[in-house]
Amino acid sequence: MQRFQDRVAVITGAAGGIGRATALRLSEEGATVVAVDLDEEGGKSVAEATGGGFIRADVTDEAAVEALFARVKAEYGSVDVAFNNAGISPPDDDSILTTSLDAWRRVQEVNLTSVYLCCKYALPHMRAQGKGAIVNTASFVATMGAATSQVSYTASKGGVLALSRELGVQFAREGIRVNALSPGPVDTPLLRELFAKDPERAARRLVHVPLGRFADATEIAAAVAFLASDDASFVTASNFLVDGGISGA
Ligand code: NAD
Repeated sequence: MQRFQDRVAVITGAAGGIGRATALRLSEEGATVVAVDLDEEGGKSVAEATGGGFIRADVTDEAAVEALFARVKAEYGSVDVAFNNAGISPPDDDSILTTSLDAWRRVQEVNLTSVYLCCKYALPHMRAQGKGAIVNTASFVATMGAATSQVSYTASKGGVLALSRELGVQFAREGIRVNALSPGPVDTPLLRELFAKDPERAARRLVHVPLGRFADATEIAAAVAFLASDDASFVTASNFLVDGGISGA
């Protein structure tokens, strides 16, 4: 029996590194995956690879997110898993002394408000079903600080941790589990974009990873699959670190 047989999983940021790897992993394990992204070409290619669907949506747009989950319920029958994963990297100079209010607000919108919106509109469907699993992508930097002056990004991910914990506790008695997943550095377009701007940053970051390398996106996907599956039936309100040991060092 596959872990996600007869389950519908909504994945935001599905055209990106972690999202795509997770879409493939969950579909291999039987899920019907609905990929969500702004990137139409990337999203469609994920849908082709998984045999599932693609919905183009901006996860910072409340009406779009509400419509997205209503459409998934109507077209696919249920909302069993929500992997709220879309995100953007920090602005170029994300120091408290220099980050503009606009840049700060943009990062909170995409990285945190989107998670609030996706939870807000996934939860009513899960409550009606009496079950569901939500996994929200945070980051190791929310647990330990990045030491690279990325205040808006780190604060947004800290918000994701707190929100996930709050919802995990609040909805546990309704059969709905909510966890935050905190990746360490993962070799994806987001990380490559960041390091292309500051190549020395990659070397500095690598030194701090006890496992001595960046993660492959499939390693994050494996952890999402665990958290979203019944194997994690006693795991909720957690901050699940998949960071190569970086926060423990
Ligand atoms: P990525 O850039 O490869 O993918 C992010 C995806 O989100 C892109 O496809 C993008 O189009 C989509 N997206 C951005 N804004 C959107 C919006 N408003 N609406 C819909 N889709 C939108 O990045 P990734 O590395 O796969 O990151 C995925 C998540 O993991 C992010 O939340 C990121 O902060 C987090 N994370 C990444 C790393 C890493 O090292 N790569 C480490 C820790 C946490």
